[in-house]
Amino acid sequence: MWFSEEQELLSRMVDRFGREQLAPLAAEIDRDERFPRETWDKMAELGLLGVGIPEAYGGSGGGVVEECILGEGLARYCVSTASCWGSHVDLCMANINRNGTEEQKRRLLPDLCAGRKIGGMAMTEPGAGSDVMSMTTRAVRDGDSFVLNGGKTFITNGPIGDLFLVYASTTPGAKGRGVTAFIVERDFPGFSTGRKFEKLGWRGSPTGELIFENCRVPAENVIGDINGGGRVLLSGLNSERLIVAAESLGLARACLEDSVVYAKQREQFGQRIADFQMIQEKLARMAVKLEAAKAMLWSQASEMAIRGPAGLALETAATKLFASETAVENALAATQIFGGYGYTREFPVERYLRDSRIMTIGAGTSEVMCHIIFRQLDKRFGVSA
Ligand SMILES: Cc1cc2nc3c(=O)[nH]c(=O)nc-3n(C[C@H](O)[C@H](O)[C@H](O)COP(=O)(O)OP(=O)(O)OC[C@H]3O[C@@H](n4cnc5c(N)ncnc54)[C@H](O)[C@@H]3O)c2cc1C
Repeated sequence: MWFSEEQELLSRMVDRFGREQLAPLAAEIDRDERFPRETWDKMAELGLLGVGIPEAYGGSGGGVVEECILGEGLARYCVSTASCWGSHVDLCMANINRNGTEEQKRRLLPDLCAGRKIGGMAMTEPGAGSDVMSMTTRAVRDGDSFVLNGGKTFITNGPIGDLFLVYASTTPGAKGRGVTAFIVERDFPGFSTGRKFEKLGWRGSPTGELIFENCRVPAENVIGDINGGGRVLLSGLNSERLIVAAESLGLARACLEDSVVYAKQREQFGQRIADFQMIQEKLARMAVKLEAAKAMLWSQASEMAIRGPAGLALETAATKLFASETAVENALAATQIFGGYGYTREFPVERYLRDSRIMTIGAGTSEVMCHIIFRQLDKRFGVSA
């Protein structure tokens, strides 16, 4: 990928930050299921929490390429941190920036950019996952506010967040055309958090439930139009997929880099395992998939930076599908190369394997990505006609 001088500097800065600040804590926050507030504050100081947001709102500027640089660089050292960051910066802030009014952006974004508040996004419900527009959380207008009732689940940053972009049904039965996006803040009456989930991976990234019991949300906190939540959601889907692809790439790179180091050190039968052709083949295949995922990611990110996210549904779904599956495959290969040690917490590859699993599930499952890709093929070539 050709980066501008500023992007190159950003990439190097993130790599150094990840190596020096995130890597030493990654195993501990995974073991203790702890959100690393101390590194979050350092990220705020470096402007990493305001990437993609204009300086007028407290951000550090940049766009989708810069966001992908961060997603890849943070995930290389700590996928949990990358996931909290992605939810805050992309799912919450970027949506406010794209769809909010001038007043909303000036009121909401500076605290988020500065790390004084943590953001998240809530669409999934216990009964509405892939079919998210079947959501039943209801918002009813009452004077100059809306009253929300219902619950969201699996929300990244849910247990620790201060402010959430929440989708609720304002016209039941109308699915995507009857959903509205709201900003719900933690101290709003009627808002509470439920369970925090114990998870296989992403354990330093808190995931939990949000509960709305007659939760009063001022009408000034509606993002976009009433019943226009579907459009707000769609506006961010293509870039969200690229950012998850970038995080997957960071993880897939960690698997390869750690495997190379280990294969050069570990000796069996009087020689380094790196000298066995079957290990060399595994490393070569990991590198090939990584290069292919890189090519897909950076070409899509560059194209999106130039002509916007619209019209890239097939390409971004394909990139997310391929990069996330590469993360899982590289993590499997890495644990194989590490042998028995790969199955223990002596080395990070065991964590990489656990962290990789969600990449093919979150932000749309692999099956849903295939569905999107096929729908686009159908539009282009009339496959099912
Ligand atoms: C750690 C974690 C963090 C998350 N963070 C957030 C967050 O911050 N905000 C948020 O709103 N959500 C979040 N989610 C939810 C996530 O987006 C959903 O888990 C995901 O969209 C899948 O929904 P589901 O789990 O209900 O699975 P389901 O939709 O029930 O899917 C179950 C299986 O059926 C398959 N399937 C479903 N529909 C189809 C179809 N049409 N064709 C073929 N196969 C299909 C799926 O691919 C999958 O294999 C998070 C989830 C996790 C685990």
